[in-house]
Amino acid sequence: MDLIIRGAVLPRSVTRAASGAHADERIDIGIEGARIVAVEPHLAAHAQQEINADGMLVTPPFVDAHFHMDATLSYGLPRVNASGTLLEGIALWGELKPHLTHEALVERALQYCDWAVARGLLAIRTHVDVCDDRLLAVQALLEVRRRVAPYMDLQLVAFPQDGLLRSPRAFDNLKRAIDLGVDVVGGIPHFERTMADGAESVRMLCEFAAQKGLRVDMHCDESDDPLSRHIETLAGETHRLGLQGRVAGSHLTSMHSMDHYYVSKLLPLMHEAGVAAIANPLINITLQGRSDTYPKRRGMTRVPEMLAMGINVAFGHDCVMDPWYSLGSGDMLEVAHMGLHVAQMTGTDAMRACFDAVTFNAARILGLEGYGIEPGCAANCVLLDARDEVEAIRLRAARVAVVSRGKVVSRSPAAHATLTLEGRPQQVDFKLRRT
Ligand SMILES: [Zn+2]
Repeated sequence: MDLIIRGAVLPRSVTRAASGAHADERIDIGIEGARIVAVEPHLAAHAQQEINADGMLVTPPFVDAHFHMDATLSYGLPRVNASGTLLEGIALWGELKPHLTHEALVERALQYCDWAVARGLLAIRTHVDVCDDRLLAVQALLEVRRRVAPYMDLQLVAFPQDGLLRSPRAFDNLKRAIDLGVDVVGGIPHFERTMADGAESVRMLCEFAAQKGLRVDMHCDESDDPLSRHIETLAGETHRLGLQGRVAGSHLTSMHSMDHYYVSKLLPLMHEAGVAAIANPLINITLQGRSDTYPKRRGMTRVPEMLAMGINVAFGHDCVMDPWYSLGSGDMLEVAHMGLHVAQMTGTDAMRACFDAVTFNAARILGLEGYGIEPGCAANCVLLDARDEVEAIRLRAARVAVVSRGKVVSRSPAAHATLTLEGRPQQVDFKLRRT
């Protein structure tokens, strides 16, 4: 074999699925080429390279289901968002757009992909603005997708950021972007001029996706207005066109404020249509409810209720150091940590569900092939300095080793401090020890 990781603990979502292995059991993972070929307690084989996990968690890679790579790392260009509001962010993006160049877009995106790899984030779905007639960002991100393909899965969404009907050539540009190789059909119905235009845009985009056999992922109801109900139309069109399992609604923040009786009808509709939801906790908690007095709404969509209904829910990062958000470093454990708090998902199963929201659930939305830790799966995994998913979220655990396509592509030291308190030198690693 080429690589063996020995003595690893697997996430519950893997151990449940893989027959035989039970939680907390240490197993060995054997890799040949770019495939996992064995997952068993004591692998007799030898490999050129072996890693001793010593009880640490090995997970399939982190997956970001919602990102904007055309804007990332543009912080401070041409100036910073001093107020931190959505409106100043939109104005800033408008100021930045005329100055974008192909080279600068590619360079920033590649730098972000380096950060992502170091964080064990090996698959990203990024929206890309198609409202620029030059399709500058589309061309740049297609180049980035090609260049990172040897170690990372990048999926592009054609995003009519200024509105499909509101921006004169948006639909033509979106079709051109798809012809150039963009993967997914995007939209932003709540940004159209009227509710009716929003519904019409959903219908047009879903019909186009059905005709082309593509997935759909719309910015949908990113609003505090409880009457923003485009998700209902999205679920209806998904059902009508037979797009089950291929459609996601991103943000869905209006659902936070919707009438509860209406939601009791809406969630079964989403479940029936197989529409997935993508919440973006870092962005939702900073942008939503912003114009409220007190009490201020949190604004994130109803994550635990959707999970209980059997709807697939992922958490996305959305933004890192761009006009809308000045923080972030590509760490999906930070995203899960925030999601857990905002949704008050502090039960033991609920905390693990937050880990799944940045791994397994997101992988299903992207339709990633061979995602998992089982024989036959792609040899993509992350060794975390944590004993389980909850500890990984609590510590934003170090990515001790990141494996992509069977090769170790990043190493980080485990996080610890050395105390020099008088008389008792000791190492601290923030894990609970009982003697
Ligand atoms: Zn977004």
